[in-house]
Amino acid sequence: MAQRLIVIGGNAAGMSAASQARRRRGADDLEIVVFERGHFTSYSSCGIPYWISGMVSGPDELIARTPETFRTKFAVDVRMRHEVTTIDLERREVVARDLAGGGEVRERFDDLVYAAGAVPVQPPWADTDAGGVFGMQTLDDGAALRAWLDAEPQPSRAVVVGGGYIGVEMAEALIERGLAVTLVEAGQQPMATVDGDMAELVAEAMRGLGITIRTSLPVTGLEQRDGRVSAVVTAEGSMPTDVVVLGLGVRPNTALAKAAGFPIGPTGGIRVDRRMRVPGLPGVWAAGDSVETLHRVSGLPVHVPLGTHANKQGRTAGINIGGGYATFPGVIGTAVTKVCDLEVGRTGLREREARAAGFEFVSVVADSTNRAGYYPGARTMTVKLIAERPSGRLLGAQIVGWSEAAKRIDTLAVALWNGMTVDDMTALDLGYAPPYAPVWDPVLIAARKAVDALAALDR
Ligand SMILES: Cc1cc2nc3c(=O)[nH]c(=O)nc-3n(C[C@H](O)[C@H](O)[C@H](O)COP(=O)(O)OP(=O)(O)OC[C@H]3O[C@@H](n4cnc5c(N)ncnc54)[C@H](O)[C@@H]3O)c2cc1C
Repeated sequence: MAQRLIVIGGNAAGMSAASQARRRRGADDLEIVVFERGHFTSYSSCGIPYWISGMVSGPDELIARTPETFRTKFAVDVRMRHEVTTIDLERREVVARDLAGGGEVRERFDDLVYAAGAVPVQPPWADTDAGGVFGMQTLDDGAALRAWLDAEPQPSRAVVVGGGYIGVEMAEALIERGLAVTLVEAGQQPMATVDGDMAELVAEAMRGLGITIRTSLPVTGLEQRDGRVSAVVTAEGSMPTDVVVLGLGVRPNTALAKAAGFPIGPTGGIRVDRRMRVPGLPGVWAAGDSVETLHRVSGLPVHVPLGTHANKQGRTAGINIGGGYATFPGVIGTAVTKVCDLEVGRTGLREREARAAGFEFVSVVADSTNRAGYYPGARTMTVKLIAERPSGRLLGAQIVGWSEAAKRIDTLAVALWNGMTVDDMTALDLGYAPPYAPVWDPVLIAARKAVDALAALDR
């Protein structure tokens, strides 16, 4: 009899696992059943802001593989609109509710992949049935916001609550649609994924684009009129709006896993080993935004909910289930985003993370340009490096700049991944031609500056 793999969650991690397992084991050896509670499989959540802004059309363009493709080309039994409500590890069964047709199904498994993603953080004041309040996590959320923005009366004002990368990307999307946008952040700056000095560059650029930014201002409530949100409430009074987008971050979606007795780590994510097995539960795997992983620089467990990790982790689980051998070695916190033309990248530890992990370090900020200064389109690029003292090992890097900035972080990520020192980095053989870089690339300029700072301190 064929063995049976059940996957909970039909997006990045879950479908990567299903596809990889199928590539290695045929349908007569391994039956694969995927339960997905939403309307879509294998979609790009990352593309939602660009669908909202109108830059890409959707949702079809954001879908890599439909349920039908999985059924016909991969022999994967995809059950859409089915929400798994119970995992019974003793009987090796899951129970799923059919959200469209009603009723329940019960299915046995030999292997189980838990890939239920993350859930948006919902403050108590957002618990309202007022229309016009949106979390932003799945393509269904994107579809709901698009429908609200397109319906009459068309909203003209938006408040984005929370200035993480989703909040910032949504603010950009809404301003590009022509709404008057206010971003309200409880902390001192939006974009807390980079250090305060770099975040200030992002905030300045956002203001330049016409986005109103209110910081150190927690939202405490919502007002509604005729069932529609009409304002957000803060200590400074009400802020009228027609739509509210919540960007308060996400936490691992572990309710089901917890109830079944999965081990949960200090970050709130499911604990997994390097092969994406859930320790102590044979045949049970987990991947993606639901799990915590190792930070390779700090050595600490972290929850870094990014598609890039979800895909790799799902693939790792699928290869192992398929009989191969694969590991996921952890992360270094590389991430990129943009606000209109301003690009932001980071890798490794921020200053406060380096401090918390017990490192002594120097940090330097170097301003240069993305192209040779005389070449048309040359614009400022700011690179920040954090280097361990006295070894000079790179611990973290951040870049803010107008173009060709974001993907430059990859050079720094590779250096960091391989334990390079800033001294090693000054000699890196990076490409140069005036349209692409000044003769000293911004990365090299920053590395030289870090070497000088270390030398000045340890002289
Ligand atoms: C607006 C936005 C922009 C982003 N931009 C980027 C980016 O630029 N770069 C990047 O790397 N990452 C980005 N991300 C993050 C990335 O999308 C996620 O890290 C990735 O989708 C996680 O994949 P996952 O499979 O773990 O979870 P998800 O993609 O959340 O998929 C989990 C699936 O499980 C389903 N599910 C949950 N519970 C159940 C249940 N009980 N039964 C059945 N189904 C269930 C959900 O419906 C969902 O489809 C972005 C995310 C958002 C929301």
